[in-house]
Amino acid sequence: MVLATAEEARIVLDDWEAGELSVEYDDHEPQEVIEWALNTFARERVAICTSFQTDGMAILDMAWRIRPDVRVFTVDTGRLPQETYELIDRVRQHYGIEVETYFPDTHELQTLVRRHGVNMFYQSVPMRLTCCDVRKVRPLVKVLHGLDAWVTGLRRDQWATRSNIRKIELDHDHGGIVKVNPLADWTDEEVWDYIRDNGVPYHPLYDQGYQSIGCAPCTRPVEPGANARSGRWWWEKNGPKECGMHCAVETGGFEHELEVLVGSTRQ
Ligand code: SF4
Repeated sequence: MVLATAEEARIVLDDWEAGELSVEYDDHEPQEVIEWALNTFARERVAICTSFQTDGMAILDMAWRIRPDVRVFTVDTGRLPQETYELIDRVRQHYGIEVETYFPDTHELQTLVRRHGVNMFYQSVPMRLTCCDVRKVRPLVKVLHGLDAWVTGLRRDQWATRSNIRKIELDHDHGGIVKVNPLADWTDEEVWDYIRDNGVPYHPLYDQGYQSIGCAPCTRPVEPGANARSGRWWWEKNGPKECGMHCAVETGGFEHELEVLVGSTRQ
């Protein structure tokens, strides 16, 4: 049976195995870490996750050079800058790859917008996190259900919540699959050096002062020297500079609002 075959092809690591690998690969080059992932997991069970920022473009480029038919996926929230859509088309042409694009659930999104309006994320941190959950996190979770491993462009120096990531780790927020962070110990400068040295397509908004690029209404340019993620959700006071895709985010009220929303969409 197809299901049985897919199940047999699955590779699952336990905490001890993942810990051993994280130590072994911690000082390895990103390409070596990506090569390990692409050689360890079946082609259909491992994928590059990118939002087309420089980090995601660097790992996409590295992976493509190792395996030109590598799976690449992204989540289209429906609120991305036009420049991001243009870059997705450039990437498709440049690499000759299909970019798997995943979208929010239509019914969940309609319910959210009817209840709270299309720009509800400006109202409060819980409302913003609810939008992130519907538009980003829940589509991501569906993709990850079909994978044994995902590869991200996360770096330790991006934000405090990312300071302890390992190059190979178990993702207990997503069923214990393997999360691979090949650029964990790279700096922003090293990423840009790679982009320039290898002619990698990059997002045009960087040339307009943006340093971290997400949805259009939630991202703005930052002053030189400011933390890159300070341009994300800039109106929030003490809100987490995370959307919940890469770490569980907890704030009072958010869980209740989401439960109400999801409950209503199940009707
Ligand atoms: Fe919604 Fe903004 Fe989060 Fe995008 S970044 S999903 S528009 S709150």
